[in-house]
Amino acid sequence: MPSCSNTAFRVAGTLFLALIFVLTALSASAQDGGVRLKTVVIDAGHGGHDPGAISKSSKLSEKQINLDLALRLGARIEKEFPDVKVVYTRKTDKFVELAERGNIANRNHADLFISIHVNSAKSTAASGTETFVMGTDKSQSNMEVCKRENSVILLEDNYTTTYEGFDPDNPESYIIFNLMQNAHFEQSIAFASLVQEQFVKNGPIKKSRGVRQAPLMVLWRTTMPSVLVEVGFLSNSSDRTVMNQSANRQKIADDLFRAFSAFKKGYDSGVSATVAPAPEPEKPKVDTPAAGPHFEIQILASSKKLKDGSSELKGEKQYSCRFINGMYKYSVGNFATKEEANRRLPEVRKKFPGAFVIAVD
Ligand SMILES: [Zn+2]
Repeated sequence: MPSCSNTAFRVAGTLFLALIFVLTALSASAQDGGVRLKTVVIDAGHGGHDPGAISKSSKLSEKQINLDLALRLGARIEKEFPDVKVVYTRKTDKFVELAERGNIANRNHADLFISIHVNSAKSTAASGTETFVMGTDKSQSNMEVCKRENSVILLEDNYTTTYEGFDPDNPESYIIFNLMQNAHFEQSIAFASLVQEQFVKNGPIKKSRGVRQAPLMVLWRTTMPSVLVEVGFLSNSSDRTVMNQSANRQKIADDLFRAFSAFKKGYDSGVSATVAPAPEPEKPKVDTPAAGPHFEIQILASSKKLKDGSSELKGEKQYSCRFINGMYKYSVGNFATKEEANRRLPEVRKKFPGAFVIAVD
């Protein structure tokens, strides 16, 4: 497959990935009159009469862990970034409606929304961390998480009107999410990738299930980069033991803090370094041998062309590159159906945790 022509370009490391993704935030931030990540909303999932997942012994509930992590993360951001406004959807053990959590973020014009959760599965063998961004992937493992996290609305008094008749247990109901447009998709993926990288690097739960896309109600209507982090499985004895210790919860909060810090650094420097991206002399171009509609797996996006063999491409030689909306988007594979692409996706994500399937006309 031909690749994009070369431009000298060498910046290593994941910080750069965050930076290039957030360049797409330029216009939004500039309109805001500011150039920095100023407000973060930290959402401790569940609360009050909604315990979330509970351990077998019922001694440990998800809502407690979520709140503890949210407060630890917020405290560290407040301490090390006094200019950043930290907004919590809850600071105590109280019930907050799912829609209201996103509304809080929107009302505060947040630049980032982090929803913190603990996973649970029927299989006690399931373990590890995963970070979700809003998407329409309804694979079986995603739906297990979605049904559980979205069914919280059933505990709300007016859920049928608030959520337009959405039924978390009915797969057909999920069609409403197909209509969404997520302007912050790539930034969400960038932050989610930073989170997973921290988990893998520093633990305490190092097993990663990757960055995933799923129709999660709490992320649906947020108007900023948004993720839902599942920090481990309460249904798995080893994850549970880890999360039960406060020193480990501090480590998890520290991982989230480092991801935040890296994202903010990219966000801030991207905005201040390049208020307007340099105009590209070339016409948008497509280098791809594939004819007709098909599917590929996008592995990364960059504001600049990457050189063949550049470290960001991680040794990938067979890729397509397209210049779309000011970004060079790199993808691999050529699949006739979305299912085929999805089957290949886990393999690609071992190298590119933020990879996702795209439709190509
Ligand atoms: Zn949850």
